[in-house]
Formats: sequence, C-alpha cells, structure tokens
Amino acid sequence: MRKSRIFTGAGIGLTALLALTAYNSGSPTDPGAGEGDGGDALWEVATDVQLEGSPTFDRMSEAGEVVIGVKADQPGLGYEDPVTGERTGFDVDIARWIAASLGFGEDQIQFETIPSANREQELINGNIDYYVGTYSMTPARDEVIDFAGPYFITGQGLLVAADDDSINGPEDLEGKVTCSVTGSTPLQRIREEYSGEVTERQTYSECVEQLKAGQVDAITTDEAILAGYVALEPEELKLTGEIFSEERYGVGIADGDTALKDHINSLFTEGGDVWNALFEKHLAPAGVEATQPAVD
Ligand code: GLU
Repeated sequence: MRKSRIFTGAGIGLTALLALTAYNSGSPTDPGAGEGDGGDALWEVATDVQLEGSPTFDRMSEAGEVVIGVKADQPGLGYEDPVTGERTGFDVDIARWIAASLGFGEDQIQFETIPSANREQELINGNIDYYVGTYSMTPARDEVIDFAGPYFITGQGLLVAADDDSINGPEDLEGKVTCSVTGSTPLQRIREEYSGEVTERQTYSECVEQLKAGQVDAITTDEAILAGYVALEPEELKLTGEIFSEERYGVGIADGDTALKDHINSLFTEGGDVWNALFEKHLAPAGVEATQPAVD
C-alpha cells in the first residue's frame, strides 16, 4: 500500500504548465495505437479476441464499437479540448488501451462524458461498456457494479488560492466554504468528518471557477485531480496540507462481468511498461508521484 505524493514547490510551475500544454496538443496519429512521449506505439489493437462469458464484450462485438464513460474537465486525467474535441489524459489513455486489448481501435470508441454522480447508474443501465475516470473502488459502489484494478492510488487533498495561508489541512476548514462534487467520496468524507460549510457542484472545474471568483475558500478531491488544475494555473492555485484518505482508482464495469474484470486485471498486471509510459506522459509533468499498484 502506498500513497501518492505531489510536489508543489515553486520549481514545477512553468515546466509543468509547458509539459501539460505539450501533451494536450499531441494526438495519436495512428488511430487505435497509443503513443509514448517519443511518438512510438505503446500498444497494438488486438485481433481475433475471444472473451467467453462476458455480456459486455458480446454487446460491444455486436455493436462494432465500445462506449466508454470518462471525465472531460480534469487535465492530466480525463480532459476534452473544448476547441478540437480531442480527449487526453491518463484515464482516457487507460480506457483506449483496454479498448485496444479487446480489439477496438480509436475509430470504434465512443467516449461519453459522465459526471461522478451518474457513474453507477450509467453502468447499471448498460449505457456505457466501462468507465475510466478517477473512480474510487468503494464497498458501497461494489454492491451495485464491479471494479477492475486498482490501476492508480492517490488521496484526498485540498486546493486553495495561491495567496491563502489560512488553510493548511482539513481541520482548518471551520468557518470556511469548501466545494466538492456530488456523488464523490471526498464530498462525503469532508461532510462527515470535518467542520465548515460545504457546497457541491457537478464537476470540479465548476469548483475551480468558484474558487477563482472568491465564492468558496477551498476545493477538496483527490490530489491527482487537483494537481492538474495547479499545473495549469500555478500563479493562482496551490495544493495545501497532506492527503487524508486513500483513493484507489478502478475501472467501473457491469456487476458480475467477471470475464471482463479478469481480462482488464491481466492487462494491468502484464502491462507495466505501458502504465509507466502513460504515467510519465500525463501525470508526472504535474508533479504527481506514484507507482503502479497491484490489482486486487
Ligand atoms: N475518486 C473520488 C471518487 O471516485 C473523487 C473523484 C471523482 O469524483 O471522480 O468519488
């Protein structure tokens, strides 16, 4: 078990911003083949895939496409360029890598942006084949869906204005207003375990807008998500304090689809090189530190 650490020293600011900008503008030229920093293919699209006993795989095969739930406003993890529509980030590439392992290239992927609060229901309804988007594996969620993974571990942190020295941890939130997202584990934890006023939004980028407008004092969610916002605006935003939970990210799949779960878990177990390349490309530039966790 390890916790991800984020370095927030002044040194990462500009470099991180440039790196983030660089990867945001880079796009895989070969549809379906993920690329590392050097432009080399990280994976091939598998052919003649069989996955006995997976209703999800049967549905994808029949449709000739895979529908994947992701986030669109989390730079470094799940981001959609508002101008070009291009999707980038660690989670999005993990999603592409899984699709390729099942025989689906980029032109057979349909991404759906789904907020935290709607994830379980979209999986239960069968509207998406799987979900990759900072999705913590929790016992409550596990009751209604299944998870492959974990593929990444981070922890709950706090984001404040760069010039705010009054908040140094969740115990300083009394008398402050904190923003988080509906249906997320950090929202629940901050409400149940700490004092202060809490306001909720559908997305973290809405919380960032509120913070920049001075309408809230802090934002709480996973540090890996918050680091992406800091990397884009290091003059205005900063992380504060230590992480105060463990968030283990899994791939959300339909309840009971053990064949798909086993397939994804084997991909993660055997794909350490791909994981490292994606981590270096998307999360290391924002100062995130982590190693690949073992799957459950
Ligand atoms: N990992 C947390 C969760 O799954 C927070 C991030 C998110 O809302 O996606 O609830």
